[in-house]
Amino acid sequence: MAIHLYQTDLPDGLNLGPIVAIDTETMGLDPRRDRLCLVQLSDGSGDAHLVQIARGQSRAPNLERLLTDPQVLKLFHFGRFDIAALKQAFRVTTAPVWCTKIASKLIRTYTDRHGLKYLLADLVGVDVSKQQQTSDWGSETLSDAQREYAASDVLYLHALKVELEARLIREGRLELAQRCFEFLPVRAELDLLGWGDTHDIFLH
Ligand code: MN
Repeated sequence: MAIHLYQTDLPDGLNLGPIVAIDTETMGLDPRRDRLCLVQLSDGSGDAHLVQIARGQSRAPNLERLLTDPQVLKLFHFGRFDIAALKQAFRVTTAPVWCTKIASKLIRTYTDRHGLKYLLADLVGVDVSKQQQTSDWGSETLSDAQREYAASDVLYLHALKVELEARLIREGRLELAQRCFEFLPVRAELDLLGWGDTHDIFLH
């Protein structure tokens, strides 16, 4: 397993295959206030690619091309947040997407624990630390612990998707999940426009 670290964009010519797991780290939970600091990517082979984003940076051509490539499925856990953060940073709509949290909510109706740590323990049998979750991602130099934590958020999403997809098929909910994933970029855009949880247009 290798963790590659890049500044401002993915390197030219890097091919991460047809399904790319993606996660982001930001300065906080409000994508309109809190800037994007790090984008983590994995092709599911065990390697992670980390891209540090500079303050004020608004373009990352190689990364943008990947996010908008219709031939590449972008795999997230709670993609709603990452898609909003990426749109706020680079003004691109990430698509097509797949979200392990939505899949879990549609299929693991026997629990309300849909955090990545629980999912990986329950379905993949890996134990990941969440210790660095709230650290300072705006730092110019990331610690080894930060890099390892950031990588662990994308390294197992492919394996998790396989397990969730099998259960979605078994329970007849794959097509419903698919339609939720198609709507996800719209949901993220609504968040950025001010229609988040407190002004949810689907509530009464
Ligand atoms: Mn993360």
